Amino acid sequence: MTEVIEGIHFIQGQDEFIPDAHAYVIGKSSSNDLSLIDPGLMGKGGYKLGAIQEAGIKLEDIKRVIMTHIHLDHIGCLGEVKERMPWIELWVHTLEANDLEQGDERGIYGMEMFKEMAQGQYGLKDGDFSFQVDRKLQEGEKLEIGGMSWEVLHIPGHSAGSIGLYGAGEKTLIPGDVVYADNAIGRFDLHNASGPQHRSSLMRLGELDVDILLPGHNRIVTELPPGYILETAEQWAPHLE
Ligand SMILES: [Zn+2]
Ligand SMILES: [Zn+2]
Repeated sequence: MTEVIEGIHFIQGQDEFIPDAHAYVIGKSSSNDLSLIDPGLMGKGGYKLGAIQEAGIKLEDIKRVIMTHIHLDHIGCLGEVKERMPWIELWVHTLEANDLEQGDERGIYGMEMFKEMAQGQYGLKDGDFSFQVDRKLQEGEKLEIGGMSWEVLHIPGHSAGSIGLYGAGEKTLIPGDVVYADNAIGRFDLHNASGPQHRSSLMRLGELDVDILLPGHNRIVTELPPGYILETAEQWAPHLE
């Protein structure tokens, strides 16, 4: 685990044949009010919580999990985390929160073929990803948590309820799987994905002032070139009709 800047820790995903999302811990340590963003794939809870503790962070200080979206590679180990930390709240965009509460797992697995493969490989069964959600997030909400200020951006396209967390003070964006380093973007062919929505979301992110990009996979970038997201959006736009 590395500290990107004060109040933002990065835990690298450990990809298997399914990727494992990066996790982030946000919040100033003095606040005792930390948030874990995207726990990751099945089986990765122990490793990630261990990394947090090795960095000197107390698990008791982590009050909530915030999901950028509910794909399996991001939510797979939520159950492990909740078992270790039963007090932890779950915050998800309202569209995907409703799926979790109703046990609609199409948005977890993305497509039937992945569901069969993942269930077979990891011994999962229907209903494993049914969770109560403590807070349903909406576009434009300001989260004043951990001594920091984050704006919730609803950026659908990769999935229906994808959100980005934007810290204007730190010029930091946590975009989930919407945009990555190296001009890559998230896939737009899974359940409730939409190319045109993805395009609009990228264009919108392109208007933000971002120095630090903390995506769900691949490299993180701490000195993002100006115009990077807009350039990426424009490159991809013809494929997102
Ligand atoms: Zn992902
Ligand atoms: Zn995803």
